[in-house]
Amino acid sequence: MKILPNPQKSENISGSFVLNDNSMMFCDAEFMSQAERLADLVYESCGFFLQFTDVISDAQIIFAKDAQFAREGYVIMINQGVATVTASEASGCFYAVETLRQIFCLDEKQHQIACADCYVEDFPRFEYRGLMVDIARHFFGIDALKQIVDIMSQVKLNVLHLHLTDDQGFRIQIDKYPLLNEISSVRDGSEVVRDGETIIDDIPHSGYLTKQQVKELVDYAAERNVQIVPEIDLPGHFAAALAAYPEFSCTGAVSEVRKRWAASKELLCAGNDAANTFVKDILDEICEMFPCKYVHLGNENTPKDRWCNCKLCRERMSELKIDNFDELQTYLIETFRVHLLQRGKTVICRNDGLTATSDKHIVSQVWTPVKRRSARKTQSERQIIVSLRGRLHFSRSYKRLPLKRVLRTNPFKGVRKSDRANVLGVEGAIWTQHITTEQELFYQLLPRLDALAECAWGWRGKDFVQRLQNRLARYEKLGIPFNGKYSRRAAHTDSDEHNK
Ligand SMILES: [Zn+2]
Repeated sequence: MKILPNPQKSENISGSFVLNDNSMMFCDAEFMSQAERLADLVYESCGFFLQFTDVISDAQIIFAKDAQFAREGYVIMINQGVATVTASEASGCFYAVETLRQIFCLDEKQHQIACADCYVEDFPRFEYRGLMVDIARHFFGIDALKQIVDIMSQVKLNVLHLHLTDDQGFRIQIDKYPLLNEISSVRDGSEVVRDGETIIDDIPHSGYLTKQQVKELVDYAAERNVQIVPEIDLPGHFAAALAAYPEFSCTGAVSEVRKRWAASKELLCAGNDAANTFVKDILDEICEMFPCKYVHLGNENTPKDRWCNCKLCRERMSELKIDNFDELQTYLIETFRVHLLQRGKTVICRNDGLTATSDKHIVSQVWTPVKRRSARKTQSERQIIVSLRGRLHFSRSYKRLPLKRVLRTNPFKGVRKSDRANVLGVEGAIWTQHITTEQELFYQLLPRLDALAECAWGWRGKDFVQRLQNRLARYEKLGIPFNGKYSRRAAHTDSDEHNK
């Protein structure tokens, strides 16, 4: 069986199974939409519709509910002429259909479906299986994002994390502050390398997601068991917003949406109550748009020169009786965390900005190595999402980050055995400073996204590259760009890389 990501358990049984235009389906009412989805896939592949029956003994495909199954888990038993799918909830059933799509070869044209009898028992090892897409540096619209959701759901990834804001752009509609869209979503030029020289071009770049588009995307993703995690990056990486509302920065000076990629020194003022309210208002609209229980607040370690020279920030520090700027950042994030908690949200932050006093309910996205003992302690008491930039940041070239390096990511590396339950999941990331087209975006993502899925689902198997071939054939058929180096049909396949 060539199933990707590798299932927790699978085995062939002697015997074979055939599905043709006389075959019928019996379905538990709760799973009807998934059964219909399978019927559509069979129609696209074979040109006939599977009929539904109320008599279970007449059915060749059975969808049954069993409340005992693990979350998102399922069992497929194909034996004695009948394929039985069992799950406890719709998400498990969704994934069973994705597995059947692979077992039945439904991405290929055929007259009827024939396969060997088999048994698959499967559930994810990690509940959070994500991909972050940076749409702030370069904007990618709803069509590209829907296509990413499609691809993710087929390999059982379930979180699309959108990096919506940064120094170089603010890319989400906020009604209360219209200048965030009018000014902050437009950049007059970008840093590019031309003839070996780094320059700022004068080509404007703009775009943002409207509320209507967000709703469309959230609904589209929900049908595919994918949640959208929104990120408003704070307190640094916020210069695009401050370009429109400079009164919430420390200096109050008017700046522009940043054209260079290096982080701006502009920060949200931590001592100004009005600046605090500004962010809370933005977060309120974010909460209305995104039903997901997580909101990401960025929280990278950023240059704090502005805070250092700001009267209001210094007053806030003496009021709080704190003596360093990292703690001031911790205070600010805590204010927003409490605000979001009242709206039922859990906050995710990048690990490098967390301190020993950061609230333990903040989920840490570990993207920089955690070496120091004190930093490890900060990690060990909270849930973590493994997102190491040396392994899971797909903006890197394939030379620097080959497929096998993604595949061999061990989410438990450096985590004490007693802390393993804290590993909430795994997330890949694609930063778009130097990715300007959809062609480049998908090329960088695929097939590293498939390797991410193998790692995040959690039951890494043998022969990954062999199992990958059907995925590559599908990308090719749909005209989605990917790195063809890993195709077995490619003349220059680098076989060494795939040897275990
Ligand atoms: Zn300030």
